[in-house]
Amino acid sequence: MPSDSPYSRVREADAAVADALTGELNRQRDTLAMIASENHVSPAVLEAQGSTLTNKYAEGYPGKRYYAGCEYADEVEELAIERAKELWGAEHVNVQPHSGTQANMGVYLAVLDPGDKILSLDLNHGGHLSHGHPANFAGQLFEVEQYEVNAETGYIDYDGLHEHAEAFEPDIIVSGFSAYPREVEFERVQAAADAVGAYHLADIAHITGLVAAGVHQSPVGVADFVTGSTHKTIRAGRGGIIMCDEEYASEIDGAVFPGAQGGPLMHNVAGKAVGFAEALEPEFETYAQQVVDNAETLGETLASHGLSLVSEGTDTHLVLVDLRESHPDLTGGEAEDALAEAGIVLNANTVPAETRSPFDPSGIRAGTPALTTRGMGEAAIRQVGDLIYRVVDNVDDEDVIAEVSDEVSELCEVYPLYEDL
Ligand SMILES: *Cc1c(COP(=O)(O)O)cnc(C)c1O
Repeated sequence: MPSDSPYSRVREADAAVADALTGELNRQRDTLAMIASENHVSPAVLEAQGSTLTNKYAEGYPGKRYYAGCEYADEVEELAIERAKELWGAEHVNVQPHSGTQANMGVYLAVLDPGDKILSLDLNHGGHLSHGHPANFAGQLFEVEQYEVNAETGYIDYDGLHEHAEAFEPDIIVSGFSAYPREVEFERVQAAADAVGAYHLADIAHITGLVAAGVHQSPVGVADFVTGSTHKTIRAGRGGIIMCDEEYASEIDGAVFPGAQGGPLMHNVAGKAVGFAEALEPEFETYAQQVVDNAETLGETLASHGLSLVSEGTDTHLVLVDLRESHPDLTGGEAEDALAEAGIVLNANTVPAETRSPFDPSGIRAGTPALTTRGMGEAAIRQVGDLIYRVVDNVDDEDVIAEVSDEVSELCEVYPLYEDL
């Protein structure tokens, strides 16, 4: 077995899992992670997540637990909360949601009753399953209608959203998206919510880090509730978070526990605390700005080869390519497969006014958070953009894919990952 494996204890207990863990570590080292929701946490976050807090039951909240022996769990959770308050400027923070979806569930349970109405962005237009897709609990418990982006411009149709809100009279409007390349104008969503007396949930899952660093406007203090995942641009390990004003604190806390969850994943809360501390360092602002600059460069590079971008560019960490104009016979799934073969890992994605199936849509989504974590700047990103284009334009050419794969390997060596694990 490779001597560089950090999983020697797992190996003694379970060689099959050690093989898979080592394979995954090397996969991350040797390929370019461009799935826009992914990132690489620091070794410190990994260590905190692998700590003995995984053993501890800590139902309740700091100082009000249902179990003895929670003094260190309390310390860790209080640190995570304090740091989150400082990062995002929220009055109240709950760091216990197991994921972003659970965070949204917490908000819905806190303020909605079954049958209440949710107005959210269509999944095909960049929304998220937890915003009320029929296959998700939110779609099953609540009545959901959806707003859209303007199919021509790719921007949220805020006027359409406002009119839709007046006609539908939702109890809550959800903003914040999974595949939207532009800055979200939270004040405009809030205006629609105010007009109909609806709550506003801003789900910043993807852009938590950009908001914390001030490179994207913040919904904190605008929307009633702000939710997020903690493993995307914020690099604090897998989990979720809810922020709100003090007035909703007890409803939110009660909705998360005991409403939706049992014991919190305290090892992940420790990961959040460490990741948030890292994000409070001044370098994190530089990182977040570089993520956005890199996405802009990626978009410009792809566009220079004739690929069309939804909304013609980006303000955030991701670009969404609509392949229909430049490569009408190529599906997003085919592009995803060919790119993965070359070591560039991203995902096929629906585009506004989608004409194919969601299982094999017309677009690809590419994000820069993970490559920026590896230290890539605009020159390297331009090279990556060129490589993406070469594969997209030659999906059936094994020679091209092999050449690109070699260049990807070289890039991975120049920008190494997890060297000290
Ligand atoms: C990623 C994401 C979530 C939450 O996802 P989890 O996998 O449950 O953490 C929620 N909303 C949006 C918009 C997302 O992109």
